[in-house]
Amino acid sequence: MPPAPIDELDELPPPRALPLRRRCSKRGCRGTARPGGRYCRPCATAATRAWRDRHRARLTERERARNWSDEQRAVRTARAYVAVYVRRGKLAKGRCAVCNDPDVQPTWRDPKRPLDMEWFCPQHAVERREAADAGARESAALRAVNEEVKAALALLPPEVQRELHEQAMRGLLVRRAGDMMYWWNLRRALQGYEIRTSGGGFFL
Ligand SMILES: [Zn+2]
Ligand SMILES: [Zn+2]
Repeated sequence: MPPAPIDELDELPPPRALPLRRRCSKRGCRGTARPGGRYCRPCATAATRAWRDRHRARLTERERARNWSDEQRAVRTARAYVAVYVRRGKLAKGRCAVCNDPDVQPTWRDPKRPLDMEWFCPQHAVERREAADAGARESAALRAVNEEVKAALALLPPEVQRELHEQAMRGLLVRRAGDMMYWWNLRRALQGYEIRTSGGGFFL
């Protein structure tokens, strides 16, 4: 049979709406399922909420993971690594290195080396972390000062640089160029030079 001409199709009555009413699948609910869903709207909302509640911990974790720094990520990996080792009996859980408490967590200096860790109770782990952070801040401040000294030194004639370097190396407690006491002495030498040559200096 040849297809009907277009204008004839236009004459067709609109399709009758089927009485397609699906019941909500929730036991005891008499509502109508949402199009494409198993539940009515209130039941669907409740089901989503229940699912979220059941998986809240994992969801929060995932949300947090999005904002993690590399360091935090490394710590998590290390923690998982150690947990597996402990579970398989390849690693004995220690006691807190400070107070001998058996309730411990592993703590890393470098989480990229997961088995190189120390055990601390929660309290001492926090103290340890705070001390490490303070240490990092301090060495950052020290580096900033060193950069300042370096920059000031670079503006001086090479023979003066050499002289100040040698002066710093002769200082007490300097073991090698670039150690902490070297920088301390270099800074002093530089201050002395500034005072000698200009009657004042910018490090005072
Ligand atoms: Zn329902
Ligand atoms: Zn402790």
